Amino acid sequence: MKKTPGRSGLIFDEPLLWEKGKKGRHGMSIPASDVPAAALPEALQGAGPDFPDLSEIDVVRHYTRLSQWNYGVDSGMYPLGSCTMKYNPKINEKVAATPELAAAHPMLGDEYVQGNLQIMFELQEYLAAITGLPGVSLQPAAGAHGELTGMLVFAACHRARHSKRTKILIPDTAHGTNPASAALCGYKPVPIKSGANGILRVESVAEVMDEETAGIMITNPNTLGLFETNIRQIAEIVHAKGGLVYGDGANMNAVMGVISAARCGVDVMHLNLHKTFSTPHGGGGPGAGPLCVTGELEKYLPIPRAVKDGDTYRLDFDCPDSVGRVHAFHGNFGVLLRAYSYIRTMGAENLKKASQLAVLNAAYIKEKLKGTLQLAYNRPCMHECVFSDGLQQEDKITTLDMAKRLIDHGYHPPTIYFPLVVHGAIMIEPTETECKEDIDQFIETVKLVVQEAKDNPELLRQAPVMAKMRRLDETRAARNPCLCG
Ligand SMILES: *Cc1c(COP(=O)(O)O)cnc(C)c1O
Repeated sequence: MKKTPGRSGLIFDEPLLWEKGKKGRHGMSIPASDVPAAALPEALQGAGPDFPDLSEIDVVRHYTRLSQWNYGVDSGMYPLGSCTMKYNPKINEKVAATPELAAAHPMLGDEYVQGNLQIMFELQEYLAAITGLPGVSLQPAAGAHGELTGMLVFAACHRARHSKRTKILIPDTAHGTNPASAALCGYKPVPIKSGANGILRVESVAEVMDEETAGIMITNPNTLGLFETNIRQIAEIVHAKGGLVYGDGANMNAVMGVISAARCGVDVMHLNLHKTFSTPHGGGGPGAGPLCVTGELEKYLPIPRAVKDGDTYRLDFDCPDSVGRVHAFHGNFGVLLRAYSYIRTMGAENLKKASQLAVLNAAYIKEKLKGTLQLAYNRPCMHECVFSDGLQQEDKITTLDMAKRLIDHGYHPPTIYFPLVVHGAIMIEPTETECKEDIDQFIETVKLVVQEAKDNPELLRQAPVMAKMRRLDETRAARNPCLCG
């Protein structure tokens, strides 16, 4: 067994700055004042928080130590399924920070920001080429926001056709945001069970699709990491009843340059730039969920969009059928810049290769771990593979125990207990940016944890034992956060 990357070095405890401060400490020395001290205006006296007094070294150590508590993709593999936590090249951060682009005031007239508008226009074109869907809005700020905008487009289209539709079909392998977005638009989500092999059966859709149903929302690859191979037939059934097909493209990392959403029969699709296109995912930062639609639906997209007239670019507001604005100004422009830089630096061939490697890496893990952990569906996977704790049940070891023990060995755990259709799910998404040696080390570590589950189940039930924190009450932490000391 090779060494796991688990931590053994010095990770310091660190109190709050308020606990650390001592009255009279300073971060700098300044000469004594040579004028008499003046009292603060009354309104300011006693106002504001009581900041602690600290020296420079107190502050530097405090934040350096806290930064060492962080785990991110810059420190190690982050195999969180459904999230595409890949390494994003730093050049894209640099481009996004270019002052001429990033600091342009959003209210400058089009003639002063031709470069920015050109980038928006070209990014729209690139995303259209990637999905095969020619109409693109860069406004939505997240995947779920793209879905909501997509549902507004569905509603606008049905309204224009004088067709009253109240329901939407949502497979059980869809992302949880799908039914929420549909419900926000007034559609009643109708769940459909996936087949025994983890993908949607054509018959299940045919049974429920009717003329009161606005369409279907399909995540493809679905949240089991499986490709919905029946997508075309399903789209035909939905279209035949006047419905529309929404493709949740948040998992595009598996299929860039490999499939055309349009040719699969998808009418509307969002992409998560903060998964696939070089904005780091997680940490609560900004994202972007551009919406791509067929030529027929383009007129409903949010306004404004970047257009090109001859050699100049402008924002086009003249779109009477538009669903309106869904974001101020130009959307989350920094995220768009990263995506543009990523697509330009990769080029079409390498985008395709990235997807192929993402799938290869997941398939490799699936094959190597399938006897160690119970494989949920034994069929070719896309960018992620889903296991469960079925084989550990006899030792009464759960997915949670194994995930927590991985922390002791230096790994961020994979996604657990999602998707809901797999009991005790363990969902691993390695992404294309991990090399074989690192993936092998991860596989060996999972095997080690599974062996420990047999040899020392009590240890696993207590894990993590090496981390700064032990098992937390995650529900309470989320519902009832304690944000003060
Ligand atoms: C992440 C994800 C979403 C939601 O994206 P947000 O930006 O978090 O709103 C939607 N669908 C799928 C399949 C996803 O993986």
